[in-house]
Amino acid sequence: MDSNIRHNPVSRERFALDGVGYEIAAAADEAGCLARWNCTLCGLGAQSKVKFPSSSAAMEWARNSARSHHDRLHAAQRPPA
Ligand SMILES: [Zn+2]
Repeated sequence: MDSNIRHNPVSRERFALDGVGYEIAAAADEAGCLARWNCTLCGLGAQSKVKFPSSSAAMEWARNSARSHHDRLHAAQRPPA
């Protein structure tokens, strides 16, 4: 499940937006922290192309990236109120 990140996982978190589950993780190597997110609804995900100075910064990127994916792909599917 974590085959995209071959470094040591340092942080992992699950959260939900409008009932859609997201998994985010950060991993560290000697150069910095990478982050990754995965959408459990459509299976899409991404890994950061840059390294962050801390795992909390990496997790923040993953959270924001997952949220923008959600806003673009899933929040829009809801009928307008
Ligand atoms: Zn999705």
